Amino acid sequence: MPARLLSGNTIRDQIYGELSQEIARLAREGIRPGLAAVLVGESAASQIYVRSKIAACEQLGLGSWLETPPATSSTEELLALVKELNLRNEVDGILVQLPLPAQVDSKRVLEAVDPAKDVDGFHPVNLGRLVSGRPGLVACTPAGAMEILRRSGISVEGADAVVVGRSDIVGKPMALLLMQANATVTICHSKTRDLPGVVRRADLVVAAIGRAAMVEPDWVRPGATLIDVGINRITDAAEAERIFRKFPAKLAQFREKGSVLVGDVHPDVAEVAGALTPVPGGVGPLTIAMLMSNTVKAARLRRAHAAPRHTSGAVAVRP
Ligand code: NAP
Repeated sequence: MPARLLSGNTIRDQIYGELSQEIARLAREGIRPGLAAVLVGESAASQIYVRSKIAACEQLGLGSWLETPPATSSTEELLALVKELNLRNEVDGILVQLPLPAQVDSKRVLEAVDPAKDVDGFHPVNLGRLVSGRPGLVACTPAGAMEILRRSGISVEGADAVVVGRSDIVGKPMALLLMQANATVTICHSKTRDLPGVVRRADLVVAAIGRAAMVEPDWVRPGATLIDVGINRITDAAEAERIFRKFPAKLAQFREKGSVLVGDVHPDVAEVAGALTPVPGGVGPLTIAMLMSNTVKAARLRRAHAAPRHTSGAVAVRP
């Protein structure tokens, strides 16, 4: 039986429905959460990502600002911009689109973001909170992957989970979130011995590698759940034929557009797995949904207490 497809689009729509209610509640308190995006230079891919984040803000009625410093910006110039955004009260979230140009010290820029406005969850303070199990702003992609599991009714407690990839923005926070949800977690990377053998033992696999269709069907335990974080654009016809041999619609798409997206998990894994996130339409939509969610959360935490309320003498307290 083919794997159950875990649609990120459906779950994103559920989350947007819940967020809309919270945004309306905040609006009644005079609060409009807002996100400032910093897009340095003119990378086409970054422009697409930032545009979709701004569009999501507009769809939900959040405030949004786009700062576009030139590709020649120095670290000091970006630090000054981040400092200014830290000071603007109407800005609840600051998003610095990565990658930054080579001459910029990315870590210094990310660490300059006020942790209370760090809606990407990349700041060491927020990572530290995650490590120690305290509430904070959690990186959007792994948080979104957890939402997919939770809302799809896939049990994590006691599961053998394998995370392939150990980046600061996906693999490491993903492993921490799974551990906090009581999975037994193994983290793999480019030096892992017998990666197929390790993956084969897993009930739950998160692939965050950045290698097209790397996780093959014979790596996967029958019935396992696969969360495919990878987004890889295939432009080579022979590679497209090899990967999508059983998917004529994808091949037709390739022939029409000259490229096609594939995850880190081979599409044929659907014949073995119990559940699988598609690419596109799996983890991707959740990343943006969690960014919106973090922006609303940051606004609530930063501003709700300060806002005036007139509730028959009582003051509502939110955690
Ligand atoms: P990254 O920083 O390049 O990290 C890749 C990880 O994969 C590294 O830990 C690396 O190991 C490991 N790796 C690379 N080759 C490997 C191999 N042959 N065997 C085993 N492990 C290997 O990438 P990232 O930022 O985490 O992103 C991973 C993927 O997710 C990319 O395709 C990216 O586009 C995608 N992504 C998607 C979303 C979304 O919204 N869906 C968001 C973020 C990222 P080492 O540490 O040993 O080098």
